[in-house]
Amino acid sequence: MGVSDLETRPSEYACGPVDAKGPEELLITARKVWLGRTTEVSRALPDRQIRMIGAWCFLDHYGPEDVAGSPGMQVWAHPHTGLQTVSWLLEGEIEHRDGLGSRVRVRPGELNIMTAGHGIVHSELSLPDKPPTLHGVQLWVALPDADRDTRPRFENYPVLPKVKLGGLIGTVLLGELAGVRSPALTYTPLVGADLTLAAGSSVELPLNPNFEYGVLVVGGQATVASTEVAVDQLLYLGSNRKAARLASRHGARMIIVGGKPFEEEIVMWWNFIGRSHQEVLDFRTAWESRDERFTPVVSRDEKVMEAPPMPTVPLKPRPRRRTTT
Ligand code: MN
Repeated sequence: MGVSDLETRPSEYACGPVDAKGPEELLITARKVWLGRTTEVSRALPDRQIRMIGAWCFLDHYGPEDVAGSPGMQVWAHPHTGLQTVSWLLEGEIEHRDGLGSRVRVRPGELNIMTAGHGIVHSELSLPDKPPTLHGVQLWVALPDADRDTRPRFENYPVLPKVKLGGLIGTVLLGELAGVRSPALTYTPLVGADLTLAAGSSVELPLNPNFEYGVLVVGGQATVASTEVAVDQLLYLGSNRKAARLASRHGARMIIVGGKPFEEEIVMWWNFIGRSHQEVLDFRTAWESRDERFTPVVSRDEKVMEAPPMPTVPLKPRPRRRTTT
């Protein structure tokens, strides 16, 4: 998907070195953003205060939306660099196509992970035979400097390992949670999982003290550590925790993301992650000029997204976390 496909003045997101403070509970409410012309998403990351959690730099939740009488998702061909996209559907179906020739039905329970690296083009569209409901998340992972120019690849993992702890069932998307490891390709120490908490349950979820974590509620309501978290709220938990308590009176579904704090400064603009204004400008120019960096999606009467204008002020690094005094 596009970061800011219809934002007329896309923001600049840049991240500096991490200020890891240990455990904390910072509640973030996702903001509404239009994606393409038809899908409204709730964007939890980047946030004004917390721009990344580990290498996770982008977290969108969309739906559940009735798409029976609408086109559904219409995110046409657009480029990415320097990141991985993680597509995870909770309900419904979309089709992913990319410049590598991939053509995949994205379905609930299957992980689709696209490593953009040097550069890739993809589209994500609801098809005419789509199910009536669309509900999902899309996340981005920033690639570290050593790997961010890697060749692009797309992987589909139809079966993922499960964590079961009392009233909690988790699907591990990336990395490791409670001793259970996903086979998905990762480049930095991180974790992402889809957690379902049964009504009336309370579970102590083991965590890695070297990671920072956040929990986004995508259904129901939960108590995470000591904070009530509703749908489209992300609770940032900080680092240096051996565990966190998750409880829910009526049941909840959550996405947990975590990772070793990402120390590199990045510049994130539109669908690109780079390290400087000039590099992002070069990516934009390559896309607009149909440079060979971006092999087009073939075999569809493909509509293409044009990049928005560059901001009038240079993209430059700013602190990863907003400083409050
Ligand atoms: Mn995309």
